[in-house]
Amino acid sequence: MKFVVLTIFPEMFASFWEYGIIRKAIETEKILASTLNIRDFAEDRHQVTDDRPYGGGSGMVMKPEPLAAAIRAAEQKAPSAPKILLTPQGRGFNQKIAHELAAFEELVFVCGRYEGVDDRIDHDLIDDEISIGDYVLTGGELAAMVIIDAVTRQIPGTLGGEDAAEKDSFADGLLEHAHYTRPHVFEGKAVPDILLSGHHEKIDNWRLESALMRTLMKRADLLQKKDLGAKEIRILKKWSRRIEDILKSYHRAHGERREGTEKKS
Ligand code: SAM
Repeated sequence: MKFVVLTIFPEMFASFWEYGIIRKAIETEKILASTLNIRDFAEDRHQVTDDRPYGGGSGMVMKPEPLAAAIRAAEQKAPSAPKILLTPQGRGFNQKIAHELAAFEELVFVCGRYEGVDDRIDHDLIDDEISIGDYVLTGGELAAMVIIDAVTRQIPGTLGGEDAAEKDSFADGLLEHAHYTRPHVFEGKAVPDILLSGHHEKIDNWRLESALMRTLMKRADLLQKKDLGAKEIRILKKWSRRIEDILKSYHRAHGERREGTEKKS
């Protein structure tokens, strides 16, 4: 995968390429990463990349000429790449989009600054617009890093295990199961016995229950959208029966109190 990032602050990426999975992916040539400085495409003496907005108002706008020239240079470096503008007005980034982008061989990211880019760039030279959330950053660089990081995890061979990304949260519509490492007991809390059993099937079942439980507690909306498998339905029904039993015992013990009535302290 080749990533080309267009930015007026290429220095921001120097350390990003230098750490962890990204660094390893570059060293093993799973990814090729480079930046183009938009300033280098400004033709004036001061290499200006912004100007005042037509119609007045505060803030500056990214000038179209240097940006267009930078995008055309990126097209030479990565001819098959969709050109993605980072913008809070784009489609919301998520794991599905990370997976979708990982299918390309090349990606070009255009990082805005100031109040954003001249709208004519947006219309004519951009293939996709992505936002990393409903908030406004000062520039697209952090957004590009977020997306590059998430996409890189999706590239086979970039993580330790071949299927590690498939087990990440959201990959199958669930949050990932709980993780534990040494020590066996930490501040009085022990690792669940099953994880020490060496019994792979039982461990897989425990992990599925853990993933379902976490998703139910933290992101029930994901469960509602998920195409549940037979095993998952069995687990949810088991919990549902347990909850019904708990409520039945409660009602038997407190039959005189109406459902929903708070206990007075
Ligand atoms: N005035 C613009 C607006 O309200 O839509 C925001 C411009 S923002 C200050 C400057 C640049 O940061 C944008 O052009 C974009 O590249 C980047 N940016 C800001 N928030 C972002 C987000 N949530 N996702 C992706 N990029 C973002």
